[in-house]
Amino acid sequence: MSGSDSASPAPVRYAVHGPVAVITMDRPRHRNAQNSAMTYALDRAFYRAADDDAVKVLVLAGEGDHFSAGHDIGSPGRDAHLPFERRAGLWWDHSDKEGAESRFARESEVYLGMCRRWRELPKPVVASVQGACVAGGLMLAWVCDLIVAAEDAFFADPVVRMGIPGVEFFAHPWVMPPRIAREFLYTGDRMSARRAYELGMVNRVVPRAELTERTRELALRVAEMPRMGLALTKRAVNQAEDLQGLHAGTDAVFGLHHLAHAHNAEVSRDPLGGMDVRAMKEASS
Ligand code: ZN
Repeated sequence: MSGSDSASPAPVRYAVHGPVAVITMDRPRHRNAQNSAMTYALDRAFYRAADDDAVKVLVLAGEGDHFSAGHDIGSPGRDAHLPFERRAGLWWDHSDKEGAESRFARESEVYLGMCRRWRELPKPVVASVQGACVAGGLMLAWVCDLIVAAEDAFFADPVVRMGIPGVEFFAHPWVMPPRIAREFLYTGDRMSARRAYELGMVNRVVPRAELTERTRELALRVAEMPRMGLALTKRAVNQAEDLQGLHAGTDAVFGLHHLAHAHNAEVSRDPLGGMDVRAMKEASS
C-alpha cells in the first residue's frame, strides 16, 4: 500500500488471507522503527481492515529479525519534525510550533492518540512478535488483543534512562503486575518471551520458525466467531481495563512524560536526555 512518499519504500505491507488481514511493518533495516510515515501507513491499514466486511481478524507483524525497536529517533527516515495528516485527535500541526507545545501536540496525536484509536478497532488484532519489542514497540504490541511471541522475542522499556517515566502509552502496570512493572522500568532490563508468558503479558510462546503459522492458526480460530460477538466482547474487555484505570492512568502519566521531556529540554536542550539510538540500543541489550 502507499504508505510513504515515492522516494522511500512503503513502510507497511497489507495482505488478506481468507478472513485474516495481515499488516506487516516493513522497515527491517531499521528494526521497524516507527516514524510518522509508518504510523499513518499502519493507520490506513487498520482502517482498511476495519472497513472490509470480509476481514474478521487482523495480524500485526514485523518484517525481519525484530518486531519493532520503538519510535524512530535516528534512522534516515526520521520525520518527527515534519507535518502529518493527523487522524487520532484535533491537536494542531506541531511542526511550526515550539517547545512543549510542539511535543505535546505531536505526541498526543502520533503516540497516545494513535494507540487509543487502534486499541478501539472493533475487530481483534493478534500481534506476532519476534526479536526486539522495545519502548515504542511495546505500545504497538500492547494495543493488540492477543500476542503470540517467538522464543527469541524480548521486551524492554529503557526510556527511564532518558529521565522519562516510560513510553507515551503507559500501560505497564496494567499489562503486568505493578511490582514487576517497577522492576521492568527501574532496570530497563529485557524481559524474555517466557517471562512475559508467565506474567500473562503474551498468550503463546512458539518456536521462531513457527511464528507466522501459529499466529495464523490463532487468528483463524478467533475468526470462527461472529463479527458482532467479537466486536462487543473486545469492547467489554477494553471497558473492564478502563474501569481498572487504564484510560485515566495513561492520561495522568502522559502529563508526567511531558514534564520529563520539558525538563530535559530546559536543562540540556535535548528532550531525550542525551540518549541517541546507539545509547538506547546498548541500554536495552
Ligand atoms: Zn515522548
